[in-house]
Amino acid sequence: MNHNDGALLQCMNVKKVYGRGESRTEALRGVDFSLSQGEMTAIMGPSGCGKTTLLHCLSGMDQITSGEIWFQGQELHSMKEKRKDALRGSAMGFVFQNYNLIPVLTAVENVELPLLSQGVSPSVSRKKAMEALGKVGLHERRFHKPAHMSGGQQQRVALARAMVHNPQIIWADEPTGALDRETTDKVMQLIQHLNREEGTTFVIVTHDPRIASVTSRIVYMDSGKVIHEKRNDGGGM
Ligand code: ADP
Repeated sequence: MNHNDGALLQCMNVKKVYGRGESRTEALRGVDFSLSQGEMTAIMGPSGCGKTTLLHCLSGMDQITSGEIWFQGQELHSMKEKRKDALRGSAMGFVFQNYNLIPVLTAVENVELPLLSQGVSPSVSRKKAMEALGKVGLHERRFHKPAHMSGGQQQRVALARAMVHNPQIIWADEPTGALDRETTDKVMQLIQHLNREEGTTFVIVTHDPRIASVTSRIVYMDSGKVIHEKRNDGGGM
């Protein structure tokens, strides 16, 4: 595989082993995977097959045991932590099942935090955070704290936080896992909208076939490997 063929991300023969001796677990057993800019990919597979590990490894949050990961033509697998942190901060956004919002901060304060931590001025950070909250339809809730918002609203704040710095890619681990069906549909419609309007690439770990059905591509994993891939024609909810 050539790492210069225009893919946003490529990984070759990625392996990840946790622990040693009796507790040794081969979580990834040789994954080859490639992502194009603007794609919306679902990663599916049974519990424990390595989905979250793959997401952590591809995003550089976790160190791989062997193999190669190239992101925008740069070697992520051998990058120093500091540079990797900077790359993640500028080019990636993250959404988790439990939202991971800071409870003592308001919605807008949560959203502007990644910008402030990158050294963006408070006034520009606030302006961009307001815009991002507008895009997820939460302008009116901007001064509410997470505890005073529904699960769906909290996840929309988390989406605003993930996209506030215009990342190339957003990694989402079971983003609707804690939401009911109706709210799941709303959050997925929003993700589809951001994917289409902003061109943001999404990788979504999910066990929900309804979520997978609105992505452009489904990658199936089992026992630490990619076993099958399917392209979707782009359904809708
Ligand atoms: P999935 O997301 O598909 O449920 P995971 O990536 O969470 O799967 O886990 C893959 C395998 O790696 C499982 O056997 C799990 O127990 C193991 N594993 C995941 N994280 C760790 C860790 N931090 N330490 C040890 N083993 C882990």
